[in-house]
Amino acid sequence: MTRTIRTLGLAARHDFLIQVTCPSCRHEACFLAGDLASIYGEGRSIASLRFKCSQCHGPDGRALPFRQESSRKREMVVWRPVKVKAQG
Ligand SMILES: [Zn+2]
Repeated sequence: MTRTIRTLGLAARHDFLIQVTCPSCRHEACFLAGDLASIYGEGRSIASLRFKCSQCHGPDGRALPFRQESSRKREMVVWRPVKVKAQG
């Protein structure tokens, strides 16, 4: 099931969350797929998303879609992305 979710638009329609794990320090962050779709576009491939780790600024984290109810955590923080306009 999870493997068939390839784009942010599809993930958003199924109420998926996007979990990003830093390959270096294992720091994790969760985003609502709908939030990311509104910024990166619904056709954006989840596998192509890259996130900089806020803890170690290490290598780019990999994004994986998952369903909220499948999470083992009872509580989690969901980050809301903010679009920042680049200068120039
Ligand atoms: Zn890290």
